[in-house]
Amino acid sequence: MYRESSRQTGLCPACKRMLAESSSGRHRYQSCQQCHGSLVDHRTLQEMWAELAPAGKQMEVRRRLGLARHRSCPLCDAQMAFTWVVAVPVDSCELHGIWFDTEELETALAAAALPLEQWIMQFLDKLRDMT
Ligand SMILES: [Zn+2]
Ligand SMILES: [Zn+2]
Repeated sequence: MYRESSRQTGLCPACKRMLAESSSGRHRYQSCQQCHGSLVDHRTLQEMWAELAPAGKQMEVRRRLGLARHRSCPLCDAQMAFTWVVAVPVDSCELHGIWFDTEELETALAAAALPLEQWIMQFLDKLRDMT
């Protein structure tokens, strides 16, 4: 069920440009036209994952403590928490979702469809470059 609401838009935490409404299939999120970073709310992210993953395969989201990054949420300006989605390092706002830098969203979602070892092999170089 998709709740139509007038969503706030924010500024890209990387390049400070206004985020634009983006969509992938029926999923909607906000992304930066310049760096292609995206803010995806937690529920949408779960739905995107569930669409690609075999039944029962959960998305692994872990908070990483002690490694604060100094990015703030595009929508509420609260400092985001450094978080892993599978092995992709992202920033997370409890209220507004997860911020994925360039290619991080595609990389994380590829892990839904692929067996873990294959995903790591395929994305190892990219994962190394992600901070
Ligand atoms: Zn940007
Ligand atoms: Zn927020």
